[in-house]
Amino acid sequence: MASESVKVVVRCRPMNQRELELNCQAVVTVDSARGQCFIQNPGASDEPPKQFTFDGAYYMDHYTEQIYNEIAYPLVEGVTEGYNGTIFAYGQTGSGKSFTMQGLLDPPSQRGIIPRAFEHVFESVQVGKLRFEVPIGRVKVGYPSVQAAAEKCPGDHSWQCTEISASEKWQSGDWDPGQLQRSLFLSPGPIWPFPRGCLPHLPLARASGPQLKEHPEKGVYVKGLSMHTVHDVAQCERIMETGWKNRSVGYTLMNKDSSRSHSIFTISIEIYAVDERGKDHLRAGKLNLVDLAGSERQSKTGATGERLKEATKINLSLSALGNVISALVDGRCKHIPYRDSKLTRLLQDSLGGNTKTLMVACLSPADNNYDETLSTLRYANRAK
Ligand code: ADP
Repeated sequence: MASESVKVVVRCRPMNQRELELNCQAVVTVDSARGQCFIQNPGASDEPPKQFTFDGAYYMDHYTEQIYNEIAYPLVEGVTEGYNGTIFAYGQTGSGKSFTMQGLLDPPSQRGIIPRAFEHVFESVQVGKLRFEVPIGRVKVGYPSVQAAAEKCPGDHSWQCTEISASEKWQSGDWDPGQLQRSLFLSPGPIWPFPRGCLPHLPLARASGPQLKEHPEKGVYVKGLSMHTVHDVAQCERIMETGWKNRSVGYTLMNKDSSRSHSIFTISIEIYAVDERGKDHLRAGKLNLVDLAGSERQSKTGATGERLKEATKINLSLSALGNVISALVDGRCKHIPYRDSKLTRLLQDSLGGNTKTLMVACLSPADNNYDETLSTLRYANRAK
């Protein structure tokens, strides 16, 4: 993968209430124009700050809207043209990963990357915006074949469907092979449609971690997860909300912390076009939107027993992801260690090759998080 296929940006959130009450000092500064981020060791104020350069650096006053337009937009646009892409949020718990991916409803400028991607995809998958090399007779999206689409929409062949098949993969817990652990899945079973605010039976606890399967066409997937065909942005948002609710409800019931889980929201787009000679053309793109588990080291979480084991596995999967990305960026490695974790196996077809990857490394500005913030910056720096 050419290194420009991987982009890394950092985002530093404002101080939170607790940090303000503790009278914490800000040790992170940003030069957005140069994409630079500086961190001052609070225990060695005479030392110069450590400096890192990324594809973008965003500070407390930047909105998700700007991050999306500057850096996520081209990646999502590529997905609507038939490429695969992955956007990760990485960082310690409380650093702003969910804020970046999920975001706020208000102000609209702070809506997250995931809802923005929904809108973007539905806007792009419309006539005139699709770029085909062949003249388009008609465009059908989301049906298994043009013929099936025609059956579904009889009579009117100039009609344009804008359906997106969105698959949802909310998993938690164990991402590393060989360990037994209870995991929560949103599916199996129909989760949609059901009335807003109403949850299906939960939790769907499993005796083992997510089971990965391999399919000659689908590639690697998680057994038992459901895929939902959606017709508009509102449907995507409902599925997303359900996933988030299930994740936190399930975790509360299992007495676990949802920040100790990875979430992957996958949107698959299939675009069928028929050229003037009646030939079918398929474009399929996949976008993975990933809110990674908190990257803090176990020593800081105070975890013991099962939780310590879980935290160790999460750290292993994050380091496996870091190894895969840095091997891809390096470009000289013959062997890319996808098989070292379930996370990287599952994302294999969207990491490397002809795909685009964006990592948003989320930072706390406070001096009491110095060690974790420095380790996030180092992780992000390896991925460049
Ligand atoms: P994480 O998902 O990394 O655990 P969150 O996204 O839940 O962290 O963020 C922790 C808190 O900080 C939340 O209350 C969130 O609203 C707030 N926050 C995070 N990033 C920002 C930001 N850029 N601007 C304002 N508030 C933020």
